[in-house]
Amino acid sequence: MPIVIAIDGPAAAGKGTIAVRLAAELGLAKLDTGLLYRGVGFGVVANGGDPENVADALDVAKNLDPAILDNPALRSDEAAQAASKVAVIPEVRSQLLDFQRQFAKNPPLLAGGDAPSGAILDGRDIGTTVCPDATAKLFVTASVEVRAERRYKELLERGHEAIYARVLEDMNERDARDKGRDASPLASADDALVLDTSEMSVDEAYAKALEFIQSRMSA
Ligand code: C5P
Repeated sequence: MPIVIAIDGPAAAGKGTIAVRLAAELGLAKLDTGLLYRGVGFGVVANGGDPENVADALDVAKNLDPAILDNPALRSDEAAQAASKVAVIPEVRSQLLDFQRQFAKNPPLLAGGDAPSGAILDGRDIGTTVCPDATAKLFVTASVEVRAERRYKELLERGHEAIYARVLEDMNERDARDKGRDASPLASADDALVLDTSEMSVDEAYAKALEFIQSRMSA
């Protein structure tokens, strides 16, 4: 059985950074599942559609080309907001489920052409819905103020204009939508290690994550 690592948590909690380091250390293929929802949300807006409209969103989800996942435009906060709107729609979630499960079951070759030892998926519902039998599950979180501050600095570093209060408001809005939806809401699986990174360095969070995963792999 290939290793499957599930990492869930809210935006800007640090799960993406931890996932990149774990993938490199353990030789895992990595899937940022948020990009799938961003791809759908972005696609709907680009078509002039409404991300809250089931037919508009499902049409894009059904025809999603994985090549779009490399588009830098998906990283914008507008794409994130559209993503969290299409992510509320159960039909969109079911449509994206198969791709995620196939990735976990049959991870693609690594960039250098080597066979991966398994897969790491990060998102909101990996441990609870997509891969409930994952080898190890992490729930990476931090206070909303700390996460908004991180996102604010990141935007400034990338040369964007940003207002902290606005970033915080957007973060709260997205958290509420992700936690409050009926279909696979953002939640920690019962058997996940919860890592609150509010007062932790990236190195510290990574070390704790790796230690936990290694203990699960040898269990
Ligand atoms: O992780 P990221 O911020 O890129 O995710 C964008 C949005 O996609 C989230 O706010 C959430 O609404 C949705 N999402 C989801 N389930 C996942 C991954 C992302 O609902 N597994």
